[in-house]
Amino acid sequence: MKISSSFDGGNIICLDCSSPENITLEIEKDNNSDFFQWFFFRLSEGKDETCNIRILNAGSASYPKGWEHYRVVASYDRYDWFRIPTDFDGNVLSFLHRPERDSVYYAYFPPYSIEMHHNLISKCLNSTVTSLGVLGTTLDGRDIDLLRIGTSIKNKLNLWAIARQHPGETMAEWWMEGFLGRLLDGKDPISETLLEKANFYVVPNMNPDGSFRGHLRTNSAGINLNREWQKPSLERSPEVFYVRQRMEQTGVDFCLDVHGDEAIPYNFIAGSEGIPSFSEKQAKLLKKFKLALRHANSDFQLEEGYPQNRPGQANLNIGANWIAERFGCLSMTLEQPFKDLGNEPLQRQGWSPARCMELGESCLDAIYNVIDKLR
Ligand code: ZN
Repeated sequence: MKISSSFDGGNIICLDCSSPENITLEIEKDNNSDFFQWFFFRLSEGKDETCNIRILNAGSASYPKGWEHYRVVASYDRYDWFRIPTDFDGNVLSFLHRPERDSVYYAYFPPYSIEMHHNLISKCLNSTVTSLGVLGTTLDGRDIDLLRIGTSIKNKLNLWAIARQHPGETMAEWWMEGFLGRLLDGKDPISETLLEKANFYVVPNMNPDGSFRGHLRTNSAGINLNREWQKPSLERSPEVFYVRQRMEQTGVDFCLDVHGDEAIPYNFIAGSEGIPSFSEKQAKLLKKFKLALRHANSDFQLEEGYPQNRPGQANLNIGANWIAERFGCLSMTLEQPFKDLGNEPLQRQGWSPARCMELGESCLDAIYNVIDKLR
């Protein structure tokens, strides 16, 4: 029996896998950082053995509340991911599983590898209204990809969507697949109307280095990109530096920054209410967008989420806040769960890639609802 994670997005340390009854593991910290929670590994040659798998350092992970009512995802074919019963005793995350095949993968959430990212970019470039810009290079030497969608006629609105500043939040790039797929559908009347009115600037993966390295929250230097927006630097956070630079060139009329939350079992939006210049107009647009999204997709809700920042108390190093303050536009953070949804649970898959993609599609309905009021 073997445990391995030396592949795109993998993360685990095997302490002992000499017998199936006592497989002990630890999650590795993000490089140069104390963050950890993302795991993704393969167990091979364990067919028909009852494996007792224990992650010993789960209790000291970045968000221990994330393990409460959480279930591990598993897959044989790396395409179909299903949940398995999981226990957390406050220290150790454990699950019993009897693999039906010689190779099985376990992960925190269905992974979205860098190879899949490249597939997504290539697929989007089949569309004649899409072009690719490489904004710059990461510290590990990867391209920072920007998709520009639209006909670049002047005076159009400039709408931005970015995802995966936190690389372990793979649901954010699954969301991108749905969002981009519908936007480039060619036969969808909502997308057609949006593209008549706006150019879209989309960064499907803000943190390719962290994604490949199997990080939870940081880039290869151990920097949390979503705390870098006021003063990004080429030494620490080139990903934010280059995206911000391009935003200054295009202007921003709307921005959605897509994430996942470890602990809260709901989809929700965090607005920018706490920025110093938060306006009545921004408040109205935020409300309208959230209501439209709830109307478009029953997996989205308005009741649960983060407490709202008090006026002037927002952290402007957070991307959505900095963008709202700098451009005076509607700018939000969308959070999806790692767990199942509290309001619409699904036993086999929980919150899943298919549902992330549907939510991405639905966000275009919500943009359609606010687009004429954005500027
Ligand atoms: Zn995040």
